[in-house]
Amino acid sequence: MPMEPTPFRHHNPAGPVYRRGWVDEAVAAIEADQCRTADTHLIRLIVPALSGIDIYLKDESTHPTGSLKHRLARSLFLYALCNGHIREGTPVVEASSGSTAVSEAYFAQMIGVPFYAVMPRTTSAEKIAAIEHYGGNCHLIDDGRALYAEAAALATRLNGHYMDQFTFAERATDWRGNNNIAESIFTQLQGEPRPLPDWIAMGAGTGGTSATIGRYLRYRQYPTRLCVADVEHSAFFDCFRTQDRSHVCERPSLIEGVGRPRCEPSFVPGVVDRMMKIPDVATIAAMNVLSRRLRRSVGGSTGTNFLALCRIASEMRSAGQAGSLVTLICDSGERYRQTYYDPAWLKARGLDPAPFEIALSSFLDTAQPLALAVEDVVNPQSPRSVA
Ligand SMILES: *Cc1c(COP(=O)(O)O)cnc(C)c1O
Repeated sequence: MPMEPTPFRHHNPAGPVYRRGWVDEAVAAIEADQCRTADTHLIRLIVPALSGIDIYLKDESTHPTGSLKHRLARSLFLYALCNGHIREGTPVVEASSGSTAVSEAYFAQMIGVPFYAVMPRTTSAEKIAAIEHYGGNCHLIDDGRALYAEAAALATRLNGHYMDQFTFAERATDWRGNNNIAESIFTQLQGEPRPLPDWIAMGAGTGGTSATIGRYLRYRQYPTRLCVADVEHSAFFDCFRTQDRSHVCERPSLIEGVGRPRCEPSFVPGVVDRMMKIPDVATIAAMNVLSRRLRRSVGGSTGTNFLALCRIASEMRSAGQAGSLVTLICDSGERYRQTYYDPAWLKARGLDPAPFEIALSSFLDTAQPLALAVEDVVNPQSPRSVA
């Protein structure tokens, strides 16, 4: 990460020096943190049976706060600081299902502002402990649907700033580059046999990551297409399918980080080429299969991503196509020991991933087509092959 020059170097030495005091220091602290931070790995998954199809996993679990939300939290803080929304002592409030609040608590502590996370009462004890570890306050509510209103109301009461990731994720991220996740992936693929992936597959929580990737593909005129993998209890897929943002989903998503009750403002369907709706049991199966192949555990939403990628790989095999595919490891399985990795938890919810694990493993071991009926919709505006 190259250092940007400090503003003083460009300053006219004869004139007065204006400094923004606390805000300058806060931005500098966040930029310095990024300088100390390495990029995340792009892991190549070795699957001999699928020769001709290269699979890559961008490992976002290795950020200091353990998930891809580290990028988002940094961008949201810089956006709020540079827009004048956060000043010295401004309390920062967020509506979160957990991961974003962990990363935001880290940055709030770094710049010394109070932080409040408004979260569903079902949020894992592990995430609450992580937020409190960074000095954040957790405000737990019973009705998940009241999340946004509660966060906005708390910010008003505290005379603070409501960060609102679900609205601002999309615009706080520099989509043209500045080492965003898309630019990082394409830079890391440079030395590969097939450096331009056919598809990038990604889930949607805020929708911010898919928006950044989809915009970057267009900006750089890459032929790569974007597949967004949605989960069972979520509004995104229906909004995309019907091109109507008003769909809602009453039941909360079982897969933390992805799936939302409404089509979040940060979700940008116009840059998505295709969407799939992955059943939760298949998500868990794919999480298990990938974890065994990597010899370390990944989180639930990574299973959603990986299953979408495998479905595309299976189609490419059937069509005799070679190419490369990319998806994300969004966080590690350590956070989900008491949920997705606990057989009793699965059983209580009637989830038996075993048959899906067999189907997926047999595809990866023998390239036998992956037969798994999944709702799957293509954007009518999506590019067609020119070959
Ligand atoms: C937020 C999140 C996602 C989805 O990313 P968005 O950019 O918000 O759409 C996926 N997995 C996990 C674990 C997350 O926390």
